[in-house]
Amino acid sequence: MKELKERIVRDGKVLSETVLKVDAFLNHQVDPQLTMKIGQAFAELFRDERVSRVLTVEASGIHFAMATAYALGVPFVYAKKKKAVTLSDEVYSVPVHSFTRQETYQISIAKQYLSSHDRVLIVDDFLATGAALVGLATIVKEAGAHLVGVGAVIEKSFQEGRGLLEQMGVRVESLARIQSMQPGDIQFIEAVSARV
Ligand code: 5GP
Repeated sequence: MKELKERIVRDGKVLSETVLKVDAFLNHQVDPQLTMKIGQAFAELFRDERVSRVLTVEASGIHFAMATAYALGVPFVYAKKKKAVTLSDEVYSVPVHSFTRQETYQISIAKQYLSSHDRVLIVDDFLATGAALVGLATIVKEAGAHLVGVGAVIEKSFQEGRGLLEQMGVRVESLARIQSMQPGDIQFIEAVSARV
């Protein structure tokens, strides 16, 4: 997505070779016009998949799930993060290890909002190590629902997330794929599809 890449170059800050700060427009201050266009881009990519629910994890995936679900005309559900392990029969729950924060938390979704009849599209802000998205994909499988794919706004392609999801047989679509980065220089992998 050309506009997104231009924005990353203009307003993103490369903090190190692995961390990109996009607080100015994506996950702290948020540009609503760009967010809605991102939702439309995901909806377009997965238009033929008869998606019945969009899934994400709080907090920084919520506005992208909202924009995508709105464009597709379906509900979205966000997994809640909990530090304490409160196991219950009413929720799907898996542990996720955050490498950026060096902590493990549970992500949970109430069973009533995800069923075996669902065709699920997962979206999130970043695909990095893939821990969060693999956790969500695991919940979708546990529910017996069909996972149509994963949409990441920004993929750091030099990290292992895409590989892990593809090993699980998951279709991965990212709107900006970063091949490498260092302060003042971000290299993207160009999309094969002209639509993104
Ligand atoms: P994961 O490593 O599980 O793929 O990424 C988990 C979460 O960490 C992402 O959803 C995102 O919120 C955050 N994250 C990962 N890498 C970056 C990064 O380079 N910059 C920012 N701002 N957040 C990141």
